[in-house]
Amino acid sequence: SMPICRVHMLERLKRDFQLAVLTLFGVSAVVGILPFAVYRFATGAFWVGLADAVIVVAISTAVLHAWITGDTRKGGVFMVICNTIGSMLITLLFGHHGLFWVFVVVVTNFFLTSRRVALIANTVLLLTVWSHAESYISLHDRVSFMVTSTLVTIYTYIFAYVTATQRERMESLASQDPLTGCANRRAMEIELERSIAMHRRDRTAFSLAVLDLDHFKSINDRYGHEAGDQVLVDFVELLRQRTRKSDQLFRMGGEEFVLLMRDTHCAQMDVVLSKLHRAVQESLGGIGGPVTVSIGGTQLRSGDGWADWLSRADAAMYRAKNEGRDRVVIDGKD
Ligand code: GH3
Ligand code: MG
Ligand code: MG
Repeated sequence: SMPICRVHMLERLKRDFQLAVLTLFGVSAVVGILPFAVYRFATGAFWVGLADAVIVVAISTAVLHAWITGDTRKGGVFMVICNTIGSMLITLLFGHHGLFWVFVVVVTNFFLTSRRVALIANTVLLLTVWSHAESYISLHDRVSFMVTSTLVTIYTYIFAYVTATQRERMESLASQDPLTGCANRRAMEIELERSIAMHRRDRTAFSLAVLDLDHFKSINDRYGHEAGDQVLVDFVELLRQRTRKSDQLFRMGGEEFVLLMRDTHCAQMDVVLSKLHRAVQESLGGIGGPVTVSIGGTQLRSGDGWADWLSRADAAMYRAKNEGRDRVVIDGKD
């Protein structure tokens, strides 16, 4: 129904920065340019009016495309092309009146697409304007225009760089565990969902394991929290060295980890988990002596939600604990 749809749209705008930017510029371009288009046609400036109208239609199409497909990259590049060509046409046909808009285009290009594409588009735009501006402004104004618009390009480039770097940092902070560098629970849920979707699409086999260190509390109690932290870091390093690139490790919380293995059937999972279990037995430990791990593993089954799948792996891990710890239990195998 309508209210749910509106909530859904708001949610998408909040989550997808690029979609929000495309929509913001799309709507303001249409609202801002449409009256000009009407005005140009009314006053007989047919070609300028047509350029305005083309920009309005093209930008609306790009916004719709992004909303329907979820792909904001193509829509952004498309809008930058429209923006840039539109701006060239306006200055070509309308002389110095179009020049003020070049500044707006130069800035918005950086919001709509990558810094590289925006830089190329702006360079082409400014060189084009430079080459034909002698017919309508003095050399002095032409140089002033080039200097100011180049400065705006450089400053916006720097600003876009800083913003992008901060956004990447924030995103990685929100999905990473700072101690071990593992992805966290939030990232795990997204990846489990993605794996289930992939399995539905092409039957890709996935295995999932829960790994929980044994008697970990006593390490902290006897040797301090820092000794415990070091064991966690060593454990993750050991797992990283002995798993494939396509395997993903998450820290679920405390001393409990989840290993997601793509293209891995039950028998292969059994081999991998036994190998990891043995490696921990042989080489994990600190000042308090050896540390062991209990592991539970399970396959992804058709019809599983991520929570069903994870709780089966968790139940297998608890069976390993109950049967005496320091072992691997595969769900469904006795
Ligand atoms: P079991 O064999 O049943 O798993 O026993 P356990 O002691 O490992 O399990 P329990 O869940 O009782 O205790 C987990 C402990 O892990 C509690 C807490 O002190 C410790 N822990 C959780 N997060 C961290 C962490 O980030 N650093 C350190 N050093 N310890 C942590
Ligand atoms: Mg434990
Ligand atoms: Mg635990």
